[in-house]
Amino acid sequence: TVKTSLEVERIRMDFPILNREIHPGFPLVYLDSTATTQKPNQVIQAMDDYYRFSNSNVHRGVHTLAEEATTAFEASRQRVADLINSPSPRDIIFTRNTTESINLIASSWGRTFLQEDDLVILTEMEHHSNLVPWQILSAEKGIRLEFIPVTPDGFLDLEAYRKLLENTPRLVAFTHMSNVLGTINPAKEIIRMAHNSGAITLVDGAQSVPHFPVDVKDLDADFLAFSAHKMCGPTGIGVLYGKAELLNAMPPFLGGGEMIKRVLLRSFIPNEVPHKFEAGTPAIAESVGLSAAITYLSSIEMERVAAHEKEIISYALERLEEVPGVCVLGPDAQYKGGVAAFTLDGVHPHDVAQVLDQYGIAVRAGHHCAMPLHDKYNIPATTRASFYLYNTMQEVDRMIDGLYTVKKYFG
Ligand code: PLP
Repeated sequence: TVKTSLEVERIRMDFPILNREIHPGFPLVYLDSTATTQKPNQVIQAMDDYYRFSNSNVHRGVHTLAEEATTAFEASRQRVADLINSPSPRDIIFTRNTTESINLIASSWGRTFLQEDDLVILTEMEHHSNLVPWQILSAEKGIRLEFIPVTPDGFLDLEAYRKLLENTPRLVAFTHMSNVLGTINPAKEIIRMAHNSGAITLVDGAQSVPHFPVDVKDLDADFLAFSAHKMCGPTGIGVLYGKAELLNAMPPFLGGGEMIKRVLLRSFIPNEVPHKFEAGTPAIAESVGLSAAITYLSSIEMERVAAHEKEIISYALERLEEVPGVCVLGPDAQYKGGVAAFTLDGVHPHDVAQVLDQYGIAVRAGHHCAMPLHDKYNIPATTRASFYLYNTMQEVDRMIDGLYTVKKYFG
């Protein structure tokens, strides 16, 4: 049984930035966790300790510090594997972020195994990071791209997907949760359908892994990508999970140190997975921070994080509906995570965000790296409020008060 109510006031004390006043008398209301989350003391402290006491390069040294750094780095890999129920830490590759993880697949798997006219299925709700790498590959290799349409109420059209699958795609790459609509897509079903038609799958988990339990074995996902900075961890480190047989068959992504077993003047023998995909000195302190972030979230429990976000988004949608002229994109709270992207009649989203900032409220305005999705809905931009484990109902109220002020300003 999941206890829904987090001790949010207790949790907030872990995040030093939440004590900040943005303007005199206006404490920070941080509603931009979809872009990046704030960091708890536990993560900041772990990285600080690493640099103060254990800093060294990994894998190549025999001295004590090198061993400590290597142990910490590899322990983080194990921590990530446990979080997503990966069969082995060897299936976990450290990258810079979700974007680099997806580029790694497009570049290594895509360039090697896709040929002219091969079909890749994406969706209309993708972040640019799961569109542009495939567009680049399409221009280079002549692969075809098709898109699962988004319905007016913000769901993937699974009937249209079923039809697309008749064209025997090689890959289906889709977001687990939309960073604009908040829609949580039925990943297990999408993957099962893809496998039945012989395609492999890539799950963009940038907005799922930080917000609810994700189990790669249960999903049967072939690849999963996500970023540490969106789950209380540092910037500069991301994850690519891949099934062992796929990773073993793929050529290296970048060349250099760490990724080799043997180098001759004119050739090299690549290292084993995962090191084969980790050229150069990795983000070691960041791996320590990611590990601390996972420990932190796991101590709270991902189910409870998800339940808290569900409570907040339900309340936020209810309150937003009261504001005349507000229109929220995407489905009901029941089907989505803690994201509310909306328009306000007659006011540009940038103006909304700017006025809210005067009251210490941080929301994002723009296309949120999902221009095609905004095109689909015929709107150039939205204002987006997004929620995480440290947000409160009172903060929702402050945003709503702020929106009434915006309306007064712009008459
Ligand atoms: N995919 C989704 C759904 C996202 O929300 C984001 C970030 O906003 C990304 C991918 C890209 O993440 P990053 O910038 O960390 O590579």
